Amino acid sequence: MKISFIAHDKKKDEIIEFVKRYKEVFEHHEIYATGTTGRMISEQIGLKVHRFLSGPLGGDQQIGAKIAEGQMDIIIFLRDPLTAQPHEPDVSALVRLCDVHSIPLATNIGSAEVFAKALRSREIVK
Ligand code: PGA
Repeated sequence: MKISFIAHDKKKDEIIEFVKRYKEVFEHHEIYATGTTGRMISEQIGLKVHRFLSGPLGGDQQIGAKIAEGQMDIIIFLRDPLTAQPHEPDVSALVRLCDVHSIPLATNIGSAEVFAKALRSREIVK
């Protein structure tokens, strides 16, 4: 499966801890991420990551384009609900495209956990 990770700055530690915990699950999938999130995942966890631009520079939109083309299966997007983001329109567009194309989207660690457990037990299949 093609899985994209995005984390706003205050959620970076949380996403790293999460991906580390499920490394044995994610290493069997194709991992994509926005720039900084992807660099941290590859440097700190050692997973191979296809990196897009940083979110505020267009990375969210690049992931959105993949969704529109039917090239992305799952999005794990840890959003910071307490900090204004300069690229909020891009964030909304990405969430909307997930809904348009019925792509599973986890926007917090609770739902991300459910996705990871479903992937581990192979309950989500393409
Ligand atoms: P980043 O982008 O991984 O490059 O920090 C995330 C975002 O803020 O959308």
